[in-house]
This record gives sequence, structure tokens and C-alpha cells, in this order.
Amino acid sequence: MTIEIGGGTDMEYDCIRKVKCFQHCDKNYNILCFQLPFICPLCRRNVSCSESRIPPYSIPSPFGDAMSSPYSVLIKPTYGSFIRDYENSSNLHIGITDSKGVAYDYDEEGIHVNSLSWNQCVVIPLSKALIAGVQDGWDNNLYQFSRNHRWSTDWYRDSSHNCFTFVLQFLHHMDINRLMPCVASRSEFCKEQIVPHTTRAAQFIGLYRQIEKEGFVIQVVKPS
Ligand SMILES: [Zn+2]
Repeated sequence: MTIEIGGGTDMEYDCIRKVKCFQHCDKNYNILCFQLPFICPLCRRNVSCSESRIPPYSIPSPFGDAMSSPYSVLIKPTYGSFIRDYENSSNLHIGITDSKGVAYDYDEEGIHVNSLSWNQCVVIPLSKALIAGVQDGWDNNLYQFSRNHRWSTDWYRDSSHNCFTFVLQFLHHMDINRLMPCVASRSEFCKEQIVPHTTRAAQFIGLYRQIEKEGFVIQVVKPS
């Protein structure tokens, strides 16, 4: 999977429906859906009149929003939303939050301080250990750092001085690289921090779109 990080932001937003999972009659199969089917696709019995082996529970979504994610790195598609528009080759945009979940990001228009467009994003929380000692100065540092002229429109370069540069250089500025060496390299940061999250998100998106198309998905339960 290739990940390109760069480009601008997009305000488009889609609500995500809750994905439910249940087992009706067979312990080898999970049924995933938004709304319980009337008839069980496995045994053809009426679901509301027969007991389910495992009653429906919600599967957690891999997405979060800036306001509930202080001290975090945020990722979203440059254009559109994860649930509607994301493909494996989609360009991604990256930002970072302060202690109150206010998101800062850099693109060809300069710095944006705005949390509203980050309401469906992959969240990479920075651990307490990482930010211990710098937590108090985090907000002020982020604010001051973002005001540097290097984050102006003129300095923007699609692939070499973009949103990713802003986030990694800020983490470096805060000395996060001492405990998280991958901050020094775009490709290492991508491999260690971003890909595991986007892979999980991509699996969820695939499942979500299949449920949207077919009403439900039957999954074989993997032996644990
Ligand atoms: Zn059944």
C-alpha cells in the first residue's frame, strides 16, 4: 500500500452508522449489519421471534474526532471522507491537536486552526510517557510553532514541505524523537504509526461498504 501525504482539506462530512454484530444460530458465523435482518440468512428463521446465540453488539469504529482527541496526530483523506471516498491510494492529510483537541494543520493555504473538519479521522494518540514533561508547554509551543513563516503559502511544496513536514517537525521541536525515533523519518513514521491505523480503518471501510450494498455481511468466526 502506498501512502501519499499532502494536499489540502475538505469540509465534507458523513455520519457513520453503527455496525452491529450478532450470532443467530451458528457459532461459526457472525452476522454484521446496521439493522438486524428480518430473516436469518443462515437458517431462514424470523430473527425477532427466535433467540440469537450472541445478541447484537456494536463494533467500535476506527474513527474519532479532533475535539475528543487531545495530544494526538490526526489523519484523514485530503479530499472527501474516509467512509465515502477512501481508497488505498488516496492522498492523506495529517494534523495535530493541542490539549483541548484544537487541530492545527498545514497545506498550500498555510496553517489552519480548526477542529470542525476533523470529525471523521484516524487518531494516533501520543502516549502520556511521550509528552510527559512537555505537556504544560504543548499548547503554547504549538501555537508559536505554527506562526513561523516556514508555514506560509510560499513555502508549501506538494511533496517536500507539506502537512507531514509540519507535524513531524513539531514533534521533533518538542523532543518527541528521543522516545519515538521514527519521528526523524517520514517513511518510518508512516510504517510504524500510520499504516497500522489506516490498515484497520481500510478493513472497517470495506466491511461498511459491503453492508451498505448487501444489507449484511456473514463472517466466518476465526478459531482463537
Ligand atoms: Zn439463524
